Amino acid sequence: MTTGDGVLAEAGRRRSFAVISHPDAGKSTLTEALALHARVISDAGAVHGKGGRRGVVSDWLELEKARGISITSAALQFSYRDTVINLLDTPGHADFSEDTYRVLSAVDSAVMLLDAAKGLEPQTLKLFDVCRHRGIPVLTFVNKWDRPGREALELCDELVERIGLQPMPLTWPVGEAGHFRGVLDVADGSFVRYQRTAGGATVAAEERLSSAAAEAEAGEDWVRAGEELELLAESGGEFDAQRFLAGEATPMLFGAAVLNVGVRHLLDLLVELAPRPTPRLDADGEPRPLDADFSAFVFKVQTGMDRAHRDQVAFARVCSGVFERGMVVTNATTKRPFATKYAQQVFGQQRSTVDTAYPGDVIGLVNASALRVGDTLYAGKPAVRFPGLPSFAPAHFAVARPTDLSRAKQFRKGVDQLGSEGVVQVLTSDLRGDAAPVFAAVGPMQFEVAAHRLEHEFSCPVRLDRLPYTAARRLADPAQRSLVDSGRRSEVLTRTDGVDLALFDDEMAMRILLRHHPDLALEPLVAEG
Ligand code: GDP
Repeated sequence: MTTGDGVLAEAGRRRSFAVISHPDAGKSTLTEALALHARVISDAGAVHGKGGRRGVVSDWLELEKARGISITSAALQFSYRDTVINLLDTPGHADFSEDTYRVLSAVDSAVMLLDAAKGLEPQTLKLFDVCRHRGIPVLTFVNKWDRPGREALELCDELVERIGLQPMPLTWPVGEAGHFRGVLDVADGSFVRYQRTAGGATVAAEERLSSAAAEAEAGEDWVRAGEELELLAESGGEFDAQRFLAGEATPMLFGAAVLNVGVRHLLDLLVELAPRPTPRLDADGEPRPLDADFSAFVFKVQTGMDRAHRDQVAFARVCSGVFERGMVVTNATTKRPFATKYAQQVFGQQRSTVDTAYPGDVIGLVNASALRVGDTLYAGKPAVRFPGLPSFAPAHFAVARPTDLSRAKQFRKGVDQLGSEGVVQVLTSDLRGDAAPVFAAVGPMQFEVAAHRLEHEFSCPVRLDRLPYTAARRLADPAQRSLVDSGRRSEVLTRTDGVDLALFDDEMAMRILLRHHPDLALEPLVAEG
């Protein structure tokens, strides 16, 4: 048994974070580079790695292939400098969905990954909004500095102007994007020069030069880097840990994940600066102490899309206590016991089952068909229940109808089930009636999953007709409903949690209506719950 002090010590060693980025910014590359560094640096003697960076994640991919489901969207665990790092994946690309956002309810910090040539991009902005709303501190890594891109100061300005986030650079690039000579380490003013390695298969060797040596070596680039940093310090860019934890400012690094440049520095920052797990608030707003009995909440459930693989994996983040495989826990939603015999180490370096896990860790529960996203699991007494699922601003809408009207009953049952699991949000209105609910989603993939499950689990094939809406706001005052319904390109629908959503074809349609009715109270929708 691990004692209470033992749990606190183990929790203190955990850093659980996610990378928020737009597709192509280099998230996969950075993930591999982080795991490579952690392994190479932690395993004494294995400086050149075993089989290079791809080897680190290959077990992961093989498992994915064998199971026929996307396991890459779970978590990777590795140790670095006596710290256990849990990197939770935020699926992007085509499967960008509410799942992507929900992962952020299971992390303690986030790394915002920017492409040096592109800066803030749409998916990054959406994910950042969720971090801000949930109070998740954000570190920033500017990637691809080895390629031509924007100026460092310009990227800093963009953060301030577009999202009100103060950059606090801890390194500053020497040489503009595309002519990466190294970085100025703000902590001691030294010049860190990297040696390029072919294909990034090994960690980049670093060499530190004093300021005088740097000037001789990098000349104007060095002088310019120093001047730019001074400019930034004058405008509030000095490092301040409190402002980072409060979500007002972001420590910033420059690098190139593909060359492993800047990656070690990022790992060090995670260890030294990123918050460790803290007591999670339960549904009554009471903090659950880290050393209380085991508790966790399910933030993701993955069902095999292939009919032959009906197995279901539930991913839960441990919030308190020690998880020991085989323990029987209670599902707070159903009050039923759940046996954890098949708990898995979540796809770290080995494909082993997990025997113990601590606050901050992610456990994968196999054959978990009884578990739903948002469920709380706990052991011992008293019972605990964490707040349910947050809902996010949907951007895609479709009317759902059963193709066979004689299946109306199964249809209703299935829609209720999918709504309560958060597969899609379910919206209705008196005008539309119950027979044709509207599905709302963050990403269109959610519709495919919903249609697939209605057909295969509820034997109720459905037709989905897309609606033209792209913008949603919360309607604060139900009395104003008719104002929105009277617009030709808008309507109000009520979500199962009782929130009235005002939907518009686009932002322009919304602005036009607001011009006619300036007292219309519309509020932004981010993460509630
Ligand atoms: P993801 O979609 O965010 O997971 O992006 P990937 O990791 O797949 O990277 C997208 C592309 O950018 C790939 O071709 C990478 O090789 C490339 N890339 C990633 N990091 C860097 C970098 O630091 N420098 C350069 N030049 N290319 C990079």
